[in-house]
Amino acid sequence: MPVVLVIGAQWGDEGKGKLVDYLAQEAHLVARYQGGHNAGHTVVINDEMFVLHLIPSGILHEGTLCVIGNGVVVEPGCLLKEIQGLRQRGVRVSEENLLISARAHLIMPYHMALEAAQEAQRGSGRIGTTGRGIGPAYVDKAARVGLRMADLLRPQQFRQKLQANLEAANRQLKAMGGKGFSSQGIYEQYMRYAEALAPHITDTAEVLHSYIQQRKNILLEGAQGTLLDVDHGTYPYVTSSNASAGGACTGLGIGPTQVGHVLGVAKAYTTRVGEGPFPTELQEPLGHLLRERGGEYGATTGRPRRCGWLDLVALRYAVRVNGLSALAITKLDILDELKEIRLCTAYPLEGARLSSFPADAWALRHCRPQYETLKGWQQSTRGITRFEDLPQEAQVYLRTIEEYTGARVELISTGQRRQELIVLREQFRNGQEAV
Ligand code: GDP
Repeated sequence: MPVVLVIGAQWGDEGKGKLVDYLAQEAHLVARYQGGHNAGHTVVINDEMFVLHLIPSGILHEGTLCVIGNGVVVEPGCLLKEIQGLRQRGVRVSEENLLISARAHLIMPYHMALEAAQEAQRGSGRIGTTGRGIGPAYVDKAARVGLRMADLLRPQQFRQKLQANLEAANRQLKAMGGKGFSSQGIYEQYMRYAEALAPHITDTAEVLHSYIQQRKNILLEGAQGTLLDVDHGTYPYVTSSNASAGGACTGLGIGPTQVGHVLGVAKAYTTRVGEGPFPTELQEPLGHLLRERGGEYGATTGRPRRCGWLDLVALRYAVRVNGLSALAITKLDILDELKEIRLCTAYPLEGARLSSFPADAWALRHCRPQYETLKGWQQSTRGITRFEDLPQEAQVYLRTIEEYTGARVELISTGQRRQELIVLREQFRNGQEAV
């Protein structure tokens, strides 16, 4: 490998989970670097479905070390539930295969309450957050008052910081008509979490450096996607962290020169959850067809996703912003039935062609996407594992994506299962033999 970064090239839910699971077969270490338990990966192994929220999907592989990096915000109760759920299904989870950065920030109960109250106050201007306290936890991090995993291990320090934060949070909650929290209840609950999590908490950057030095295979797993990145996404309809490639360095404590390959994952079409502009969004009945065929409902929240044509303007932007070495295209099979397939190649706005992906939501909302229409293949691609076996029209579709974005397509997913995959990069083939 040795260090491969897998990133969402759209608005998240690109099917990264399946690819990370495939690539993790060869990895010695798999790490998450941003976001929280709002991310949801669905992985299907031997017809068994696993939904993971915080723990990297490498956990499903015997002998792979999983790391939750400093850039992730952790709700310890949810993490423990996820650990419990995996153990109940026979997956071994211990300090031998799951480490959490001592620098990772904690999501506290008042973060969730604050997020819900703030979102309710926004009314029609709501961002569409998942209400899990992730945004407010990152706010505390930037304001330098956040509680971290390291604090869990120092009860006295934890109590003092909690007290101070709670006073501020309760003031805000009451001002918004909500109820405050008692510090003792939270303290006792978090000390129970501390006991359960202590063996897993460590300096994960050190562990990563040692694996890098030994030239072991490392897989870095992004959550959400580039267009949800707090800096490069469709602000303000974004997540509170850096979901793009740069986030992997800050969120794990490694340098850009240590990342060897950056793989961007994109669906063969586009989806988006929550609010915000979406130029290629399809109305019914086509939007409905993609949603039903693609099972486009949030893995964590169950929310229906908005569906649309593949947006090559946005994808080319993702290639640039992340310095993508290559693309992986997923869910090709979802387009199997369509007679015609459209690809968005430009965004004219008020008569002028935009030369790049616009920074402001207004422009994205008002531009009129321009499309290239390709012939559909109208036959099944489900389970195809060789590029040559794809219908000619599907090959043209993939080549058009390459031409327009300037990035090579190295992996093509043709179904939910791990082996339903076309692997065009030699280096990634080993995993295919293992399935
Ligand atoms: P992630 O967060 O990016 O991993 O996205 P999700 O967990 O929402 O994954 C998308 C869903 O699509 C999951 O149910 C996957 O099993 C499924 N999936 C991934 N790749 C393919 C594919 O090529 N074809 C089909 N039909 N389903 C896929």
